[in-house]
Amino acid sequence: MATSIQDVVTILEKWAPTGSAESWDNVGLHVGDPSRDVSKGLIALDMTPQVLEEAKSIGVQLIVTHHPLFFKPVDRLTPDHPVGHLGLKLAEAGIALYCIHTNLDVAKDGVSFALAGQLGLKNIQFLGSLGERLVKLAVFVPASHADAVKESLAKAGAGRIGKYDSCSFTTSGTGSFRPLEGSSPHVGEAGGDLERVEELRIEVEVPRWNLPSVLQAMREAHPYDEVAYDLFPLEQDYRSAGIGAIGELASSEPLSAFLARVSTALENPAVRFVGDLDSVIQKVAVCGGAGSRFMHLAMKRGADAYVTADITYHHFFEALDSDGGPKMALVDPGHYETERATETILVEYLSTKLPRVDWNRTATRTAPVKTFVHSSFQISNMR
Ligand SMILES: [Zn+2]
Repeated sequence: MATSIQDVVTILEKWAPTGSAESWDNVGLHVGDPSRDVSKGLIALDMTPQVLEEAKSIGVQLIVTHHPLFFKPVDRLTPDHPVGHLGLKLAEAGIALYCIHTNLDVAKDGVSFALAGQLGLKNIQFLGSLGERLVKLAVFVPASHADAVKESLAKAGAGRIGKYDSCSFTTSGTGSFRPLEGSSPHVGEAGGDLERVEELRIEVEVPRWNLPSVLQAMREAHPYDEVAYDLFPLEQDYRSAGIGAIGELASSEPLSAFLARVSTALENPAVRFVGDLDSVIQKVAVCGGAGSRFMHLAMKRGADAYVTADITYHHFFEALDSDGGPKMALVDPGHYETERATETILVEYLSTKLPRVDWNRTATRTAPVKTFVHSSFQISNMR
């Protein structure tokens, strides 16, 4: 059976649900008809004219990028609008585009886990949790329909805890109600007497972003026209997604060696940093892309170094103590460099899950920025 673009979307969103993306983001299918077949795909960090040419030359039906093509509103698909023109050319070439951005940033084994792996970190965990992401759903169901409702809730993604699914808790009791005129009760009659029914209270944990589909699944499986349920916000962390990553090097090394490691692993000869070159690095926090806002999280977790990108001049000051010495090494090897492994993990994941499609990693370096390294300079901040 052929693989459709929708099959690709479904498998990607199993790993990185679109609902877990930031509210300002624009993830998902940007161009294309999900019912079309795909036999060859191309993975790139960014959608650029060079990537489009590459896609056309190797004959793909789908491009998957990390960064969204359509981010700010586009008001025309004409040659004088760089983003709109790319959209037009994709459509003309019959090539679909799917973007998996901040939902892959926060996914387990996503962007930051890939970066941590590239730097040789072990025991990789999330650096921070995504707060206020979980709710508890308690629904009251007559015993006859309890299994059907439980099954439906689980299918919609409720009750997933760590490596377990279909997690729920059930207690029994008596539900009472009086059907008013105009109702269509499962038990009793409209305008009739007070009814007492043996009901079960089923409790499940639900990620907040998944609530609409879980509530719909609950209503579809429930026999009542008016379903009684409660929602409670939960304080505990949502463990299936999180911010950045933290881990340890197999053995400690001085910052000078760690910088060489970063430079080599991420293929950037110039790495900006704050830190003492002799300081000992073992515990390392990372965040692929622009992650300077999580610097204090890295300090709180006791990281010796934090590797992220797009660190501004003033952000670098925040890594200093009141005497001007470094509290933690802060390392910026570049946005593209900290996220490039995303191409590898996407190719690996899709090749495993949808092996009938020929998945290709782009040969194009999509970063618009290059680094000039002058041969006679070493570290420019030695004095
Ligand atoms: Zn990025």
